[in-house]
Amino acid sequence: MDAKNYVEGVLEDVKRRNPGEVEFYNAVDEVLHSLIPVLEKKPELIEAAILDRIVEPERMIYFRVPWMDDSGKVHVNRGFRVQFNGAIGPYKGGLRFHPTVNQSIIKFLGFEQIFKNSLTGLPMGGGKGGCDFDPKGKSDAEVMRFCQAFMSELYKHIGTDVDVPAGDIGVGAREIGYMYGMYRKLSNSSSQGILTGKPLTFGGSLGRTPATGYGLIYFINEMLKDKGTSLKDKTVAVSGSGNVAIYAIEKAQQFGAKVVTCSDSGGYIYDEEGIDLAIVKQLKEVEARRIKDYLQFRPKAKYVEGSTNVWEIPCDVALPCATQNEIDKASAEKLIQNGVKFVAEGANMPSTLDAVAAFQKAGIYFGPAKACNAGGVACSGLEMTQNAMRLSWTFEEVDEKLQVIMKNIFAASKSAAKEIGDDDNLLAGANIAGFLKVADAMMKQGI
Ligand code: GLU
Repeated sequence: MDAKNYVEGVLEDVKRRNPGEVEFYNAVDEVLHSLIPVLEKKPELIEAAILDRIVEPERMIYFRVPWMDDSGKVHVNRGFRVQFNGAIGPYKGGLRFHPTVNQSIIKFLGFEQIFKNSLTGLPMGGGKGGCDFDPKGKSDAEVMRFCQAFMSELYKHIGTDVDVPAGDIGVGAREIGYMYGMYRKLSNSSSQGILTGKPLTFGGSLGRTPATGYGLIYFINEMLKDKGTSLKDKTVAVSGSGNVAIYAIEKAQQFGAKVVTCSDSGGYIYDEEGIDLAIVKQLKEVEARRIKDYLQFRPKAKYVEGSTNVWEIPCDVALPCATQNEIDKASAEKLIQNGVKFVAEGANMPSTLDAVAAFQKAGIYFGPAKACNAGGVACSGLEMTQNAMRLSWTFEEVDEKLQVIMKNIFAASKSAAKEIGDDDNLLAGANIAGFLKVADAMMKQGI
């Protein structure tokens, strides 16, 4: 069968089997179309129904999470874990706690994770999980009780050689700590490699917290080098003010860039003279305050209430680090009009499909999330290795390995793009390079 028809047929099945799951469908659509040149060269993959198999999760678990708030009221949330593909290693991927979490979002993230994890070169399959719990405004005791309730079901499905969750939006070291505590009670086991992103005193890895943001900058640095330039004196727009954004800003500044924006769900900051990161860290990491309060310390900066569209600010480099679908076609066009040259995604799928198409049409050098933000999960892989060896590497050792991994991901994506004669198409290149390793493992393991 012709590769294009095969892809369209699989996509029709995905639409029929997953009604209403727009985020999942879009993620599959984007990956599958970019695999057509590979399938043309390898018809044996079509014969083995490789795409039909790869779009169907190996296992999808959903469960009730009942918990009690501080006033004694009982709440019920819905928890998820998708174990999408374990061909190259234990399922690996974060847990997201956010009111928007549903099956479609978890499946889109889990699907992306298959290729992202493959790109890191480490033996990790793809998984993802989460819950529609909103940690915002909850007391520490409520978060603890919720995490314990969540883990009291999840622990049945995970294991160091089975499935290793970590953090994502709404899940940091505190939540991982509470979940690990519950896991240890229920399993009577101290296998620290069961979760990654742990605090340092019980098996966490130095360098894990900044890894996604730093990794993003190591990646964009390769993109810039490829075009004979660097971050020095570039104007950079960043969205978000969470873990990814903060450490992307830090590393970009270390490389000599001027970062002028950041945001949270309430609005965005434009600081023409460059974001003062110490203020953002204090507000977000220490005091859990709104980004709007930045103005109290830097009255010359501007705050735009109610808009997260930092993309209206002129920049050379755009780094979306907030959440999915934050750059739509109109924002992409505004960025292009204002002269953006490079876009690299720190969040998972922050650009809509038509935004990506607009960037590509305008010749903007575009770095896709599954390549650019793989530093977080790569560092999780390094944490698993340290846990298995029962030792801890220094920050420098971890960071050095992270740099090598990000350089390798860029090189693999670039060379796969060249192979299909579309040299700057890192999106297709990352999909193809990530896919080929997983497909090879699936073929060798039989049906
Ligand atoms: N949530 C991160 C991601 O999207 C990290 C996952 C992990 O460390 O397992 O890749």
